[in-house]
Amino acid sequence: MNTRMGEEVRERVRDATDIVQLIGERVALRRAGRSYKGLCPFHTEKTPSFTVTPDRQIWHCFGCSKGGDVFAFLMELDKLTFPEALRVLADRAGIDLPKQERGPGDEIFEKIYQANALARDFFHASLGLGASGAPGGTTHAGAAKARAYLASRGFEEPWISRFEVGWAPEGWDGLLNALTKLLPAQVMEQAGLIVRRGDGTGHYDRFRNRILFPIAAASGKIAGFGARAIAEADEPKYLNSPETPVFRKGRLLYGLPVARPGMRETGEVIVAEGYLDVMRLHACGFTNAVSTCGTALTIDQAKLLARLQISVLLLYDGDDAGVRAAERALDPLFEAGLNVRLLLLPRGEDPDSYLRAQGPGALRERLETALDVPAFLAGASAPEKGDPGVEARVRRLVGLLGRIEDPIRRRLILRRGADVFGLEEAVLLEAVQGRGRGKKGAKTQALVTPGPAAGPVSGTTGEKSVDGGRAAGVSGASEATTAPSDPVERELAGRVLTEEGAFLEVVAQGGATCFNSTALQELLRPWFDMGRRPLDEELRELMAQSALTRVLIAELFPDPEKALEASRREARELVYRLEERRLRVRRQEIREELIRAEQEGDDPLRAGLSAEWDRINAKLSDLASKVDMRRSQAA
Ligand SMILES: [Zn+2]
Repeated sequence: MNTRMGEEVRERVRDATDIVQLIGERVALRRAGRSYKGLCPFHTEKTPSFTVTPDRQIWHCFGCSKGGDVFAFLMELDKLTFPEALRVLADRAGIDLPKQERGPGDEIFEKIYQANALARDFFHASLGLGASGAPGGTTHAGAAKARAYLASRGFEEPWISRFEVGWAPEGWDGLLNALTKLLPAQVMEQAGLIVRRGDGTGHYDRFRNRILFPIAAASGKIAGFGARAIAEADEPKYLNSPETPVFRKGRLLYGLPVARPGMRETGEVIVAEGYLDVMRLHACGFTNAVSTCGTALTIDQAKLLARLQISVLLLYDGDDAGVRAAERALDPLFEAGLNVRLLLLPRGEDPDSYLRAQGPGALRERLETALDVPAFLAGASAPEKGDPGVEARVRRLVGLLGRIEDPIRRRLILRRGADVFGLEEAVLLEAVQGRGRGKKGAKTQALVTPGPAAGPVSGTTGEKSVDGGRAAGVSGASEATTAPSDPVERELAGRVLTEEGAFLEVVAQGGATCFNSTALQELLRPWFDMGRRPLDEELRELMAQSALTRVLIAELFPDPEKALEASRREARELVYRLEERRLRVRRQEIREELIRAEQEGDDPLRAGLSAEWDRINAKLSDLASKVDMRRSQAA
């Protein structure tokens, strides 16, 4: 964690965490001017001396002198190690940690999975289906109602057990009492199974008198629960586990482990929207069905499916919300490289109701008529001549095509789109290319011939040259131990070597001093001193000699048509982003010094640090406005 990258990850996670919200979930906070006050969770007190200062992202208790940032808060309160706290907050913020930042934090994940497994067993036993001695008892009136509810919805064995459906008893402490000998309350709370009482005198069960649907991760471990109310008056109708380190709704698909064999068999996954839909589909023989967990389909879920190498059939409700949800699911699915078909059920029907009314045969027939995406977009509303909606739908298709990485697939769908919209293929192609031009990451022919060891091979297809570039980047990086980890810095250096505009801009912004990495400074300084970038043959020589250069060049997506001005503008933005990172790292150092000064009561030091803090913030917002300005000019 001593690396610059480690600091940056910490900084990003911290910036993405709302300290008032995080602490406010555990401590009742009251606003007091620019800060918030509450009763300290770390010592007993009657008047609040626990303070949270969102401007500085820190907390401090004037009673017991404890204090720190968001990580320190979790470490103190939940007795976590730093890696555990980092991982909890990174997951909460949806930030992927680099590999080396993972590890010891796994322990808390295992504890939560274990708590969820015990809870699943308790809920399932409480439903009282089998002979097992359920704590709720098979004769429990509430359990009988839960069973009656499932029966009324047409659900029976073996599906209830296969999906491990359960029942959370009425009352406030059924689960708490059952698990209290097995687990610390703290772990149950972290798993979202119990909730801390507002007055701090203990906990109560989150799920009460509800049908419980355990939601498993791809590994089969229970990540959390979806819970449906039984009594019509109970709100909300569906209650999920809160987001926990392991329960991240956007990364899970309900029913995935159960559906795996069916998915392998058919090569396709049916994606529905509800837990009951999934169970009904399986019970009716569609054993390759999964669902989202009450949210729109995300890129993480799409990537999860892409790893299974299957195609996707979206089976959504035919109402407006269903159409919109299907529409929105297309972007992540295309981006993940998945083949997609869609079937919207008649208005007012969901897969569960449709199957109960019409039976599996009717759905099977309908599934045959599922549309591919171009046909779906073309038919989204009756296309008439001069219909203003047609243009919007073509543009939507063009946007989706731009998300497809694989050129062959893109071409096939483009051809199909031209077909169903009755357009010239060339027109559609031009629209897609026009969109892609100037876009970051656009793949064009490599500008330079490669060195002997690595680099994109000119003359190959765009796709291959990208793969070659990636592979070269990986092998080159292990060779060049001094390669800086910051991709922004690497990109800027690569551009300085290959783009006239970038070279001129960096010279104007301070030359080698724009870079943090000494390796890059050394590599580039001779060229800054000479006042020109390498000629093509000099660059080839450089690549032959320096693994670092090969890495830089391999990672570039050169665009020979890029105008000088565009190159300068993009380089300027990279310089600003590097400067921004430097300032953020410095701000982090100040934050730590501030915490110490605050604890030691060193007021002059605190005032000095606060002033520097404000200066850095001013510089940061100045940079942000410059970058925004560039963006709006470029747009
Ligand atoms: Zn305190």
